[in-house]
Formats: sequence, structure tokens, C-alpha cells
Amino acid sequence: MAKVVKNCSFCGRPESQVEFFIMGQGGAQICNECAVQAAEIVKENSTSRIKVPTSLKKDEVPKPVEIKKYLDQYVIGQDEAKKYLSVAVYNHYKRLMQERSNDDVEIEKSNIIMVGYTGTGKTLLARTIAKKLHVPFTIVDATVLTEAGYVGEDIESILTRLLQVADYDVKSAERGIVFIDEIDKIARKGDNPSITRDVSGEGVQQGLLKLLEGAVVNVPPQGGRKHPDQKMIAVNTQNILFICGGAFDGIEKKIASRLNTRVVGYGATLESDQIDKHNMLQYIAPQDLKSFGLIPEIIGRLPILTYLEPLDRIALRRILTEPKNSIIKQYTKLFGMDKIELTFTDDVLDYIVDKAIEFKLGARGLRSITETIITDKMYEMPSSHEDKLQITLDYARTKIEKANINRLKIA
Ligand code: ADP
Repeated sequence: MAKVVKNCSFCGRPESQVEFFIMGQGGAQICNECAVQAAEIVKENSTSRIKVPTSLKKDEVPKPVEIKKYLDQYVIGQDEAKKYLSVAVYNHYKRLMQERSNDDVEIEKSNIIMVGYTGTGKTLLARTIAKKLHVPFTIVDATVLTEAGYVGEDIESILTRLLQVADYDVKSAERGIVFIDEIDKIARKGDNPSITRDVSGEGVQQGLLKLLEGAVVNVPPQGGRKHPDQKMIAVNTQNILFICGGAFDGIEKKIASRLNTRVVGYGATLESDQIDKHNMLQYIAPQDLKSFGLIPEIIGRLPILTYLEPLDRIALRRILTEPKNSIIKQYTKLFGMDKIELTFTDDVLDYIVDKAIEFKLGARGLRSITETIITDKMYEMPSSHEDKLQITLDYARTKIEKANINRLKIA
């Protein structure tokens, strides 16, 4: 009797070209390579796709206190911004659930703008809140946006990402939330925009205004630049919540000069000696955004203005160890996977914070400094037979002193 040749039911390759088959019902079989590929597809789809319920029930909606508590597990400090965000997201849900009533009261959307130095947690807040949401959420960077006809991306491409995370389900994308990072980069550069063409400034702001106000816009499904043969998808932005974030470098000066004039002038609310000069952003007001170069119409469409605190030594020290996925917890886990118990003495943790401050690296520097200290050990330890590693101050110092500080600064 002739031998029956077995083939993979997926790729069709015969037994001779694969390592082995996994048998299924009714003679079906899958080869080892197709099985690996299938596992990858399953993994990708289950992590990147958001399950978006078509309708929300009131008791499924997280309350502001609950949202803030969740944020507290990952983001240190920033209570003010957390509260504003939690309320805005909660109200966004309520808006989505509002029924047409006869009382003529329609809840308007409250887009948010967060101002804070770079590396203080704006994006982290946005990313963290996204995990708690039941609506599509995406983060886009405003620096790539330019006016139509110039190199860069059309403003509508902001919505492409939202469509993608909603699996191109337009209805669910229309209820989503978009975080626009680096919004300050589209501020008008000079006082007189007509002297030179300001491609990334006012024109882009006008385009963005349309999205913020609520309009039906044509979105290129693959993003980038629109071109004539591309099929567009119409998206109504009326119910999309926009959260904007930016560092607004130098805005403290505008705040200070406004406060000074008010202190001197009639109706002063703050005495100059009451002003905390180390944290000017807490006094931010819409007119400061205007002085910085945002057009008043945009500011009007971002009615909730909040700020992030600069991170001091205490905050940085907490960031190192307290968040649910803090840097120290991450490295401990990495070593733990090799059955090595990693510990740091307290003075090492203080030292890491001191260096982050000294090199002006902020929270972002904590990781690169820690990495520099323990890279050699990450290299050696998995091949050693030791099961304990304690990083001491002396050890940390020698590693940092040997390291190229400039490399750390760029990291
Ligand atoms: P921003 O968007 O304000 O420039 P990020 O949110 O990207 O800053 O912060 C950079 C990194 O620094 C984060 O990924 C996080 O590891 C750390 N970080 C910054 N601020 C905080 C904070 N308040 N709490 C915890 N970690 C923080």
C-alpha cells in the first residue's frame, strides 16, 4: 500500500519539510511553524484590540474617585491634573449616555489642555487612563502636523489612529478619546504670522479647531497625506473628547508678567510675595496660552485647563519605587526571572535621584541611570551561580563615574 503523504492543513507543506505536525480532528494537522504563527496572531489581536461595547450602562462607568485611585497606582503626585482628567472622562461617558430629553439641556463636551514640563507625566497619565477606558483611545503627536500642501501629515490623520484602534468601526471611533501630545508645537511662532509662512502654526490650529468644535471630516484610512485616489472615511467629531498636552517652554515668563501687572494694578488677587516662583504653572490662565501663540478660538474649545507639578527630589524618589510598574520593580522582576534576588540599598536609590537631578534628566533619567549601574550585572549574573545581588552605593558610584555622562544625558 502506498504511503499516505501528510501535509499541513494550513501551509500545505509535506512532513519532510517541517519538524512535526500537531494532529487535529478529522485528519486536519498543523505544522510547528504555522502553529507558532497562529499563536502570534492570537496574541497580537487580543492585546491591541480594544473591546468596545456599543452601549454603556451607567454602573459600568468608573466614577471619578475610582479613576483617580487607578491613576494613583501608576502616576506619582499630579493630583490636580488627575482630578480634572477623571472628571472629564466621567463626564464624557455621561455625555455619551445622555438621552434626548425635553429640557433642552445638552451637555457640551469639555476638551482638556494639560500644561507641564517635559517628563512630568502627561503622556503617562494619558496612557494609564486609556487602560481603564471602555472607549477607543489614541495618542497622537502634534509635531508631525502641517498645513495642507506641506510636508508632514494632514490634520485629519489625527483620527486615523482612532479609527485603527476602533478596528475601523466608525460609530465607536466617534465616541473615542484622542490625546494630542506636544500641542504647544503648533503655536504661532511670532506675533505677526504673515511675515513668513507659518506652516505648522496658525493654519494647523484652524484645521484643529474644526475637529475640536465637532464636524464631519474625511479621514485618510491609512493616515499621512491625503491623495486623490484614496477612499476617505467620514468621521463626525462631535462626541470625540480631545485631551491636549504640552510643555509650553517659557510660558512661566508670560504668567509672571501677567501676575505682576495684576499685582500692581487694580483688583489684584495675589501679592507678589505669595507667589511660589518655583511652580509658576499653577497660576496658568487661558490668556497665557494666547500670549504663547494659541489662537483664542482653540483656547475656547479647550475649556478645561490644568497643569502638572514639576517633579522634586521627593517625587523622583517615589517614582523610582512606588508605581505599580516602577523601574526598580521592573529590574527586580527581570532578575527574578533568572531566580536572582536583586536588592538596592537605600542610599543607592537616593544616589540615582541625585544624579537625575544633577544631569537635569528628570524622571526619564531614572531609567537610564539605573540601567547604567546594573548593565554589567545583567550581563554577568545569568551565567553565574549566584542567587542574590545587592547593589551598594560604592558599586553604583564606580559604574556611573566610569560611564560616559553625555551618553546618559541623551538617553
Ligand atoms: P511628558 O509626557 O510629561 O513629557 P512622560 O509622561 O512621557 O512625560 O514621562 C516620562 C517618563 O517619566 C514616564 O514614562 C515615567 O516613567 C516617568 N514619569 C514622569 N512623571 C511621572 C510621575 N508623575 N509618576 C510616575 N512616573 C513618572
